[in-house]
Amino acid sequence: MTQNFIKNILQKVNIGCTLDKTEIISLLSNGGNELLAVANDVRKKYLGNEIYLRALVEFSNYCYRTCYYCGLRSGNKNIQRYRMTEDEIVLLSNKAYNLGFKTIVLQSGEDMHYSIDELCRIIERIKKNDVALTLSIGEKSFDEYKQLKSAGADRYLLRIETTNKDLYQKYHPNMSYENRLRCLEDLKSLGYEVGTGSLIGLEGQTIEMIADDILFFKRINADMIGLGVFIPHPQTPLGETEAGDFDLALRAVAVTRLLLPDINIPATTAMETVRKNGRVMALSSGANVVMLNIADEFYKKNYNIYPDKSGVNQSLEQMLLELETSIKPIGYKISDSKGFRLGNY
Ligand code: SAH
Repeated sequence: MTQNFIKNILQKVNIGCTLDKTEIISLLSNGGNELLAVANDVRKKYLGNEIYLRALVEFSNYCYRTCYYCGLRSGNKNIQRYRMTEDEIVLLSNKAYNLGFKTIVLQSGEDMHYSIDELCRIIERIKKNDVALTLSIGEKSFDEYKQLKSAGADRYLLRIETTNKDLYQKYHPNMSYENRLRCLEDLKSLGYEVGTGSLIGLEGQTIEMIADDILFFKRINADMIGLGVFIPHPQTPLGETEAGDFDLALRAVAVTRLLLPDINIPATTAMETVRKNGRVMALSSGANVVMLNIADEFYKKNYNIYPDKSGVNQSLEQMLLELETSIKPIGYKISDSKGFRLGNY
């Protein structure tokens, strides 16, 4: 009975119909391998067999926020804080470019140390190479986003984390859900490619809330969606809660692909961290992007959002080799394009 119901929903997707909330909830709850396979078909139909690679530069782990789930939260004394200098960030980005990466992602905690002028200078220097540049540095004002865009930033990642306002407020003290939405709207209106996404498995989160998240991604026409499994970090208020369900996160990736067939969806590091082969599973279920951290071990180790992050002890060469070996059997190859959302460029 349930399986027939799932089949019918998936058939609707095949003939180009969109899905309503009840159907999304059914897929998130009971969609099996068939859901994952249909999502993979949709991905192949729209995006072919290429995987977009991004070079991730986590340039500072200072953060003045106190998000309940994140190991970078201010007040966590158990990590060694670091900040890369302007020259270090540019050198690392140049190294990535020389290795063939076509997108550089600059990510950090919300660190007020870097002025907008300094960030703009860094962006201008990196953009001397023919690369796309993504920022993931948190909430800023419209004018700040505007300056960063004028300096050459192409894309911005800012997860909504959860669209349930009560849950959002609970886990983000002194932050405002409305401001998060304002940021995403500003970024869209300024012409950034906008990435958002959610954490799957936060305590108190229901399947229905995840369905709402996916409908939100569709409503704002996000260009990229990153879905991470929640992993408890011992030095945070959520340290004793359960980790998120990998299979649910995988189904969420697949359903997101069905609703937004042409967007970019990373197979997130969190997916690989909670399940061996998790990245390849995500890439076979609708995801089409991989972000590789290109910094040295010291930085990777201390960008400690959650424990036991995958890839921390591996060299970049090892990570690239492992990625290439793992995607070959599933028929994918690494793209040499910048990997904008299809149709945007
Ligand atoms: N300061 C930036 C970047 C945040 S780090 C910003 O505000 O956008 C990137 C992502 O890591 C966050 O958006 C969050 O979804 C994820 N993250 C944080 N803690 C996590 C945890 N314990 N488990 C899984 N993902 C986590």
